[in-house]
Amino acid sequence: MSIVDNLRKIKEELPQEVKLVAVSKTHPASLVMEAFTAGHNIFGENKVQEIVAKQEELLQDLEWHFIGHLQRNKVKLLIPFVHLIHSIDSPRLLREVDKQARKAGRTVDCLLQVHIAKEETKFGFSKEELISLVESEEFKSLSSVKIRGLMGMATFTENDTQIRAEFRKLKNLFDWLRKEKFADGEFDQLSMGMSNDWKIAVEEGSTIVRIGSAIFGER
Ligand SMILES: *Cc1c(COP(=O)(O)O)cnc(C)c1O
Repeated sequence: MSIVDNLRKIKEELPQEVKLVAVSKTHPASLVMEAFTAGHNIFGENKVQEIVAKQEELLQDLEWHFIGHLQRNKVKLLIPFVHLIHSIDSPRLLREVDKQARKAGRTVDCLLQVHIAKEETKFGFSKEELISLVESEEFKSLSSVKIRGLMGMATFTENDTQIRAEFRKLKNLFDWLRKEKFADGEFDQLSMGMSNDWKIAVEEGSTIVRIGSAIFGER
């Protein structure tokens, strides 16, 4: 199927209130344009060099989301244009985003990435680390980042029961934080679900899905 057909099919099934980030990593800007021409304008990338290059090449009114592991020395390249950073995975990274955003005179929306998968390799905070971060004095002093919610990746497995349990755990943590720690009402985004598990994620309360191969094909 074509990109246009893939997008249409996913959007038919996706509840209207759930945001679709089309993950264009490794694919050329021409395919991003193909999706844009079909009416989609929200894209995600996991490498700084690639997101910057595409953003410069396309110069369209696209909404760029950063979803990959972010090195602190590259933060400032994203700050001018990034719409949402999904992948804040350490206090030091958050501090750097705050610093660079302040210098640039903007506020940057961020999600805190939580480690929910069994795999060792996936980045993110544990529940304990997350709570200690949001309770710290330093966290309260950040002025130029806005924490909009959480992001997580389930284990890469065929076992739907396990995937569902991991997403449910993340949703419970999200609900608890929203109620106990972020009462301002702007902690409202839960980014979970990829090509192989987005339907489960949506059933478990996702508000943003990040879908790559089911739109653009295999990488
Ligand atoms: C690549 C990637 C996706 C999309 O993965 P697909 O399986 O191609 O849909 C989503 N989230 C993150 C963090 C990614 O790196």
